[in-house]
Amino acid sequence: DNLIVAIDGPAGSGKSTIAKLIAKRFNFTYIDTGAMYRMITLYLLENNIDFEDLKEIEKALNSINLDMQGDKFYLNNVDVSTKIREKRINENVSKVASIKIVRDNLVNLQRKISNNKNVILDGRDIGTVVFPNAQVKIFLIATPEERARRRYNEFLEKKIEITYDEVLKSLKERDYIDSTRKESPLTKANDAIELDTTNLTIEDVINFISDKIEK
Ligand code: C5P
Repeated sequence: DNLIVAIDGPAGSGKSTIAKLIAKRFNFTYIDTGAMYRMITLYLLENNIDFEDLKEIEKALNSINLDMQGDKFYLNNVDVSTKIREKRINENVSKVASIKIVRDNLVNLQRKISNNKNVILDGRDIGTVVFPNAQVKIFLIATPEERARRRYNEFLEKKIEITYDEVLKSLKERDYIDSTRKESPLTKANDAIELDTTNLTIEDVINFISDKIEK
């Protein structure tokens, strides 16, 4: 059987950093599901599609082709890897991710691209909705301040101008929408292992999860 590792948790909890390293260590395919919601958001914004207009959104979903290759993300064959990390995407992605037809579409795609592969997926609903039977389920958490600090450092590295307070505020807003939405809210699966990474190193987290995979 193929192995499925689900990594869920709020923004900045370390999911993508950890998932990438685990994928490398075990030679698994890494699937960044947040990037998919970001690409749909980019498309809707660039085409001025109203988030309430379900007809137009459905049409959009049918004309969107998402492709992921390593660190590169392609929306209808255009590399949007940098664009999907912009502020306007952060500010709108949680709204788009609460639309049922968007979620249904992406959950299908996530299942399809995971078929017959050893995969590690990071997201919000992997262990609860996408793969309730995943063999390893991890729910990463950290304090909002620590998560904001990590995100802020990433912005600094990329020389993106933003203050720590702005990062903290936008992160809290996203968490709020993600955990209170009707469609698959961000929540820990009953059988997921919760790991608080606030005071852990990346290596600590990798070792903890690797142990669970090797068992
Ligand atoms: O992980 P990332 O920060 O890139 O995710 C962006 C947004 O996409 C999240 O804040 C959430 O609204 C949405 N998302 C989701 N379900 C997933 C992955 C991401 O709703 N599985």
